[in-house]
Amino acid sequence: MWKPKRYVSKPYINHFKAMGTIISQEVYGINASGIVSIVTNKIKKLDNLWSPYRKGNVINRLHKAAGIKKTQVDCDTFKILQEAKKVSLLSGGTFDITADPLIRLWRDSARQKTVPSKNDIDLARNLTDINDLVLSDSSDIFLLRKGQGIDLGAIGKGYAADKAREIYVDHGIRHALINLGGNVLALNSKPDGSPWNIGIRIPEKSTTELVGYIEVCNCSIVTSGDYERFFDYKDNNGLNHHYHHIIDPRTGEPAKTGVSSVTVVSYSSTICDILATSAFILGIEQGMALCDSFENTHSLIIDKNGKMFMSDGMSKIFHKN
Ligand code: ADP
Ligand code: MG
Repeated sequence: MWKPKRYVSKPYINHFKAMGTIISQEVYGINASGIVSIVTNKIKKLDNLWSPYRKGNVINRLHKAAGIKKTQVDCDTFKILQEAKKVSLLSGGTFDITADPLIRLWRDSARQKTVPSKNDIDLARNLTDINDLVLSDSSDIFLLRKGQGIDLGAIGKGYAADKAREIYVDHGIRHALINLGGNVLALNSKPDGSPWNIGIRIPEKSTTELVGYIEVCNCSIVTSGDYERFFDYKDNNGLNHHYHHIIDPRTGEPAKTGVSSVTVVSYSSTICDILATSAFILGIEQGMALCDSFENTHSLIIDKNGKMFMSDGMSKIFHKN
């Protein structure tokens, strides 16, 4: 039967830096360039709000007001904190945005290539408790104890990707792909109706080779790993340690679970981002079980030996190289 040939326009492609990474957009449709600018501005705004490095932003204000007074926050900040707290409580204490004192401590140590003292770790660990983040109906936030803070590094890019989708859809875009340094979101299919192919990297810093790719339409694909941001260190006994940026709040140290990378596929990029970090800390079995407890959510975990573990749903969309 004769079928009309679909008209496939050229995408508008754009890259910019924000949220500590390079963000790329591939957008199809009339006025794609204008809509790309709206998304770019929105993400830069979120980055300014949530960066741990900007004085006077909401993260800085929450830290200063901790244990003293409530802070009135904007709508995006309230929403992300609400979502983060909800999933935190399901993650068995592994995903916790109040791990800010621990994250700061390890970040400062990494800069100096040292390891924090046991005492400092214990102090920071004691300040980490999602139950101390109080959200009131009127968008007031209160952190109960002095020294507490919020870190949105494991969820901000996911939230930004979901916001981008909202903007694309509101402006009539039907086909787009946005990549925030490993947080990918695909809006619908490619313009010709075929699925997007999202490459999954071998989890090593020294290579950009792929283990395979995932075929998806209209969902998010987020990968968390310990191979991008880390430092290696030899202790007094000559033992080697690998320190990286995903902290296990239960021990106060970088997570050690034999996992190299976790990829999560689901509709919401915020949920994918949380689950990828959380599953990394929980390890293969519990991490996959947590992902399975979410509807239409698939996981792929690669261990330190390069062995792959995937959920049933993932095996249907993953293609080995
Ligand atoms: P990436 O940002 O490299 O994609 P993740 O999404 O896993 O990786 O986020 C890691 C970041 O999340 C860290 O740099 C830190 O800011 C924050 N973080 C680290 N450990 C935790 C944790 N247990 N819970 C919540 N956030 C965390
Ligand atoms: Mg994450």
